[in-house]
Amino acid sequence: MHTPSETTFDEQAFRVQVRAFVETHLAAETRHKVRNGLYLDKADYVGWQKALRARGWFGATWPGEYGGQDWSVQQEHVFLQECALSAAPMLIPYGINMLGPVLHAFGTEEQKRKYLPDILDSDTWWCQGYSEPNAGSDLASLSTSAVRDGDCFVVNGTKMWTTEAHWADMMHCLVRTDKSGKKQQGITFLLIDMNSPGITVEPIVTLDGVHHTNQVFFDNVRVPVENVVGKEGDGWTLAKFLLSRERGFIADTGNKMRMMRQIKATVARYAPTCADKRAVQRARLAQLDASLSALVALEHDYIEAWMDGRDDGIGASVLKVRGTELLQQMTEFWRDALGPYGACYDPSLRKGGPGLAANEPWVQAASVNYAYLYGRCWSIFGGTNEVQRNIIAATLLRG
Ligand SMILES: Cc1cc2nc3c(=O)[nH]c(=O)nc-3n(C[C@H](O)[C@H](O)[C@H](O)COP(=O)(O)OP(=O)(O)OC[C@H]3O[C@@H](n4cnc5c(N)ncnc54)[C@H](O)[C@@H]3O)c2cc1C
Repeated sequence: MHTPSETTFDEQAFRVQVRAFVETHLAAETRHKVRNGLYLDKADYVGWQKALRARGWFGATWPGEYGGQDWSVQQEHVFLQECALSAAPMLIPYGINMLGPVLHAFGTEEQKRKYLPDILDSDTWWCQGYSEPNAGSDLASLSTSAVRDGDCFVVNGTKMWTTEAHWADMMHCLVRTDKSGKKQQGITFLLIDMNSPGITVEPIVTLDGVHHTNQVFFDNVRVPVENVVGKEGDGWTLAKFLLSRERGFIADTGNKMRMMRQIKATVARYAPTCADKRAVQRARLAQLDASLSALVALEHDYIEAWMDGRDDGIGASVLKVRGTELLQQMTEFWRDALGPYGACYDPSLRKGGPGLAANEPWVQAASVNYAYLYGRCWSIFGGTNEVQRNIIAATLLRG
């Protein structure tokens, strides 16, 4: 069913507004970095999010009573697509898209007062502590323990792959408070201050040579009981609610459309001299371009279905699988299109520096290889593609 803000939404006018805003309010240096695939640091993300907040466009999907604008999934999608097309950085989801809605639905008044304003103002960087060394796809097997001791829980264990934990002030975390019963029971949703004594953050450098993610260790970390969100032992309900909120971003078509323009520029610049190779390259490119158009159309159809309450339950999974597979195909093609430069990767070139022009072939190769290598993990996080296929199959075969 459409809400009033959805029916009055003028898509084309809004696209123009967003484009104009990005043009005037995104820091030139940040835009340059995004456009050229260079390394972004925390200040780039926070600066952009603060600019959006000043315009009322950060957390705009939140309900008005919590400082949002009640945007529909369609308006959010159009907004994200235009931002990406204009080379704005992605919005970091851990606070605004994950924890925020959980607090709206399950938080106490005190928790809402304490945490929501800093999420909206990007003054607190949150990370997501779900996965563990033996609990990824099978998340309910998690074993990081929290044992009650007076007015605190004492947390012991480890979280794995925690993205940007080294930048984070706080973690929203799943811990085990009860080992009896089914594994989905006895899980509790806990908010942990990353500066607490007993926390160690160890970097994990991924295939792309960059430190995005971490292993976080908890050694007798004391966490006040008021940091439990929802009921103790009911964390699985909150975790499922949180994961179901991620669908708006999944296909990431704005970034793919911008990448397609860059790929075409690379093809034009480094085209093979041999006519046969050029023909093969053109055929591959045409296929990718058609696949991208199909993805954009598919995403559009799903958004309409969600808006009209016609959710078949597999849209998020279909878009995740198709979107991530296409990303991997596009970046592979892009790397090939660089010819011999594509074989060289020096991650340090993505940090820029004096005398390093962004269009210099080695810098381009670093940026493209980064996109190619980091692109591999998109089919893993947010629920692996194999698990998404299980969801699709189970839903379709059931009905
Ligand atoms: C770069 C990166 C960043 C991440 N950031 C975060 C983060 O910030 N916070 C966080 O909590 N987690 C994060 N993760 C973890 C991510 O959610 C897990 O890696 C993911 O859920 C898979 O879990 P796993 O790595 O333990 O693999 P496993 O679950 O052990 O899977 C291994 C393989 O088996 C397959 N498989 C597993 N179960 C099935 C099944 N039932 N049917 C068919 N195939 C199956 C998988 O598809 C996969 O190919 C991140 C991961 C990466 C790579």
